[in-house]
Amino acid sequence: MPRAFITGITGQDGQHLAEFLHGKGYEVFGMVKGQNNPKFDQVRDEFPFVEPVPGDLADLPSLVKALEHAQPDEVYNLGAISFVALSFNQAELTANITGLGVLRMLEAIRMVGGAQNNKIRFYQASSSEMFGKVRETPQTERTPFHPRSPYGCAKVFGHDIVVNYRESYDLFACSGILFNHEGPRRGMEFVTRKVTNAVARIKLGLQDELVLGNLDFKRDWGYAGDYVKAMWLMLQQDAPDDYVVATGETHTGHELVEVAFAEAGISDWERYVRQDQKFFRPAEVDLLIGDPTKARTKLGWKPEVDFPTLVKMMVAHDMALESAKLPR
Ligand code: NAP
Repeated sequence: MPRAFITGITGQDGQHLAEFLHGKGYEVFGMVKGQNNPKFDQVRDEFPFVEPVPGDLADLPSLVKALEHAQPDEVYNLGAISFVALSFNQAELTANITGLGVLRMLEAIRMVGGAQNNKIRFYQASSSEMFGKVRETPQTERTPFHPRSPYGCAKVFGHDIVVNYRESYDLFACSGILFNHEGPRRGMEFVTRKVTNAVARIKLGLQDELVLGNLDFKRDWGYAGDYVKAMWLMLQQDAPDDYVVATGETHTGHELVEVAFAEAGISDWERYVRQDQKFFRPAEVDLLIGDPTKARTKLGWKPEVDFPTLVKMMVAHDMALESAKLPR
């Protein structure tokens, strides 16, 4: 039975990946941070096939202990301070966890793997936010980075250190440059989920308005359930490499809002939406669109869920979630 170790098991992608790997017959270990964290029980309840292991990306000895315990064949580093807006307010924390955390994980692999460190295969969750103020459209594996947030800067460090450790120590280390991917498990702080949840609440009469920042940005949005397959595929190749994972389509913030309201049967959506300067980023990423040709041709990966289906899935989930809270 192959063994996988996942950091960020409590996040959106960690949950999808754990289910996917379990379905493939893996023994799955998931790192959970913090003292007496209720998320240990949450992981045990919702994913009984995952063994929660304590550890923190800020703490190298804890990563070494976690790997010694799990003895993994594959390590997926999904843990991060992942919310761009938070990264502007907590830039040092973001650099430490999202950036240096990658270095610590790689060092832990070298320490635990010893002479056989190239036997542990490593996946790093890189991000399209590294492209930021984009130098070319669409973005490929060779597009230069120009990050526009502390999060993007930290991800660039993580990405570069993976390449450096691969070249220096012969590690089987890959980075997936994933464009935005969403789904019903997306955190409420992220714009897609904020929109679909507010739409459901407005439809049910639980909320009057949806307050957002800039809506002119363009994103390449896919479904998280599709994207975790690409992570796994990267680690099954003969040689480690980096891949853009994207749909190759872009949609504006406006379109997101319009499609979500339409899905709930609300056509006059403008009367519910207000823009507020406080939700604007200090530096915005205007246009992200990925070219997934390499992932398609080398990994045989392609997205299954398109943008309208994704939004529909999220609105339906949030309608059920919010309806269940109504008094009977
Ligand atoms: P997410 O839902 O925000 O999950 C982040 C995870 O990181 C959580 O499990 C969190 O644990 C964990 N974490 C935070 N601080 C940590 C620390 N000090 N030590 C260990 N773990 C820590 O993110 P996601 O959407 O699943 O994304 C997974 C990864 O892909 C992230 O690295 C993200 O930056 C990257 N990425 C995501 C997207 C996207 O569109 N979703 C696109 C490109 C790249 P707690 O729950 O305990 O806080």
